[in-house]
Amino acid sequence: MRYNDFKGLKISDLGFGTMRLPMDKDENIDYVEGEKMVAEAMKGGITYFDTAYRYHEGEAENFCGRVIAKYPHDTYMLADKLPTWLCETRDDAEKIFREQLTKCNVEYFDFYLLHNVDEDSWPNIERLDLVDFVVQKKAQGLARHVGFSIHCKPELLETILAKYSDKLEFVQIQLNYFDWEYQDAKALYDIARKYNMPIIVMEPVRGGMLANLPSEESRKILDDASMEAGQEGTSYASYALRYVEQLDGVFCTLSGMSSTEQMRENIETFSGPALTEAQLASIPKAASKLQADIIIPCTGCNYCFECPAEIKISKLFSWYNEAAAKGFHWIWGSLSKQYEELGPNAANCLECGNCESHCPQKINIIQRLKDLNAKYEELKEAGE
Ligand code: SF4
Ligand code: SF4
Repeated sequence: MRYNDFKGLKISDLGFGTMRLPMDKDENIDYVEGEKMVAEAMKGGITYFDTAYRYHEGEAENFCGRVIAKYPHDTYMLADKLPTWLCETRDDAEKIFREQLTKCNVEYFDFYLLHNVDEDSWPNIERLDLVDFVVQKKAQGLARHVGFSIHCKPELLETILAKYSDKLEFVQIQLNYFDWEYQDAKALYDIARKYNMPIIVMEPVRGGMLANLPSEESRKILDDASMEAGQEGTSYASYALRYVEQLDGVFCTLSGMSSTEQMRENIETFSGPALTEAQLASIPKAASKLQADIIIPCTGCNYCFECPAEIKISKLFSWYNEAAAKGFHWIWGSLSKQYEELGPNAANCLECGNCESHCPQKINIIQRLKDLNAKYEELKEAGE
């Protein structure tokens, strides 16, 4: 495992994100597999663990308290985040913070972040002076380091850092080679670098999409580069992880792993060779092909889970992207069965907008669901 120094702390290049923990058949966190993963992480030298109030609808913090906190606190570092959108007063923030410490079964957080800062949440953060709230937690010894995670436009990041770069110590950004080319990732990265702000990367494989590249041409470009480098069989995930790892200023790359096998592979990635020049050069080409194939830029974060119509939004989008990348050439019976098994769809949408207000990717979900359903109906009629 490779490491970076953050203010005297030894941070593993790979961090374990608890957003996509393994699930059992009842859709609950699979603690047996989860315990194995944490043991593997500790053995493999991972020192940074990341959770949040909303992950797994509140259950990820309990997982940290029951599994990670069994280890001595000086063998790991835990990051948690304040869901600022649930805070109407500073008392709310205080209550949530105390609840988080209890659920995670720790006396302090090593890293504490304002979660999901964007154009909608920022006015409330300013109104309640929640930057001061996290700074106070640090002064009280309840958070060793404080920062923020963003899903915002570059202009807001510039505003925040111009005002608070002396108080907030690091920033967590969604960075991956797909967003670098096609979203604001590069601009956000450049601003963080301008302020010399240490960076934690989230979504390096874009919710798994870059690990299971849904584009045949992209896969071929990377496979050819692997052959040339004498690294035949290199996984697509390792391309994505090593791409962000080599960026200056990045001190930890989070991966929301879901199995022990995935954990082992990622630990190997961060212990093996870096990308060659030719492999690095192949990445923008693969991204370009992927862009042509991918229709909905959903990361599967599930921030939109509170849908009153119980529409499985991320699963529907994943179904659509997979089918689109294959040119909708799946056997129709299999494709339609999968769609129908996902339950309520655009026809059931109440257009309440709740999902869109929580989507960090700013996806026009209501319209996308309609487009998706129209495509389904079109295929059904054609009986492909
Ligand atoms: S707009 Fe539709 S999909 Fe979104 S939360 Fe409301 S009912 Fe669910
Ligand atoms: S639609 Fe948006 S909020 Fe929902 S899973 Fe996808 S990226 Fe996340």
